[in-house]
Amino acid sequence: MTTPQTALEIHLAARPKGRPTLDNFAFVEVDVPKPGPGQVLVRNLVMSVDPYMRGRMNDVKSYVPPFQIGKPLEGGVVGEVIESTVDDLRPEDVVVHNLGWREYAVVEARHAIRIGSNLAPLEAFLGVLGMPGLTAYVGLVDIAQLREGDTVFVSAAAGAVGSIAGQIAKLRGAARVIGSAGSAEKVSYLLDELGFDAAFNYHDGPVAEQLAAAAPDGIDVYFENVGGDHLEAALGALNNFGRVAVCGMISQYNATEPSPAPRNLALLVIKRLAMRGFLVLDYDHLRPQFLGEVGPWVREGKLRYTETVYQGLRAAPDAFLDMLDGKNVGKMLVQVAG
Ligand code: NAP
Repeated sequence: MTTPQTALEIHLAARPKGRPTLDNFAFVEVDVPKPGPGQVLVRNLVMSVDPYMRGRMNDVKSYVPPFQIGKPLEGGVVGEVIESTVDDLRPEDVVVHNLGWREYAVVEARHAIRIGSNLAPLEAFLGVLGMPGLTAYVGLVDIAQLREGDTVFVSAAAGAVGSIAGQIAKLRGAARVIGSAGSAEKVSYLLDELGFDAAFNYHDGPVAEQLAAAAPDGIDVYFENVGGDHLEAALGALNNFGRVAVCGMISQYNATEPSPAPRNLALLVIKRLAMRGFLVLDYDHLRPQFLGEVGPWVREGKLRYTETVYQGLRAAPDAFLDMLDGKNVGKMLVQVAG
């Protein structure tokens, strides 16, 4: 296949206030760049859209720099090496790197990780076997110190991280796993496909009431993806010495006002709870352990996953907005090229 002279990339056109819209993105045709020394040219195949990208659209200091207006967005992507100036990456090698949101990328070879596996298709390295899967593993095993017999509650449970977290909890001996999600279809998916013991749609009534009904003996671990009333409900349901792995708070990402909940943080003292935030980027050292444990579960079909895939790079903004709105089941991906 010959490399075209120009290709598409997606830029940040303007910073969103509240929920982003399509006006925040610009499609730009650019010359396909040539790789310099130590670089490879990659044809991107499948890219990821992730909640953290919403934070990078704001001009605030955080753990990663903000996206720049008029510059391409970035994010995890699987692609095929087309040209290489280094010995250890050759054309046709498939790599994961971080310059998504464009059809072709020149990548520093040291930032491109070659993948190839008999465990699962390559796009799984953006989901169950990639960053979201490792996040689920770290949150449960390292941060929440999951123990056999625990009752575990996972929010955003039908999404990329939550769906894996709930299943890892079961496979590691949790007695009961409860999930919350935003639709009846997702609740059925959790119960019928993923083996959750209980699940509820948080739109159906107060989270605290639905959680109390699903966990009559309380919960020991809360895998926090949502924040706000979910966190308040979880603090109320946690047993003494319970643990909270604070992975994310997606209900706040588009908020223009601070959330009133949780209003019951004093329960941290009364119940002697441990609540700890984490970022997966600090846990690369656990990747071999994660792949060694979770990889065989995926290969043997003990741990199931699904993807919601939009077609074509031009669909990436819709995929991102729809993921924030909960239209994905499992990992939201964009097929950039065949
Ligand atoms: P995801 O769950 O696949 O997709 C996001 C989901 O969030 C949506 O499908 C939607 O599902 C739910 N959601 C959106 N707005 C909500 C609201 N107001 N209330 C309740 N649920 C809402 O995304 P993901 O990649 O797996 O990320 C899940 C969480 O993990 C996010 O908070 C993310 O920031 C965090 N994360 C953290 C790290 C880390 O290193 N700490 C790494 C990766 C991800 P519903 O239909 O159920 O509403």
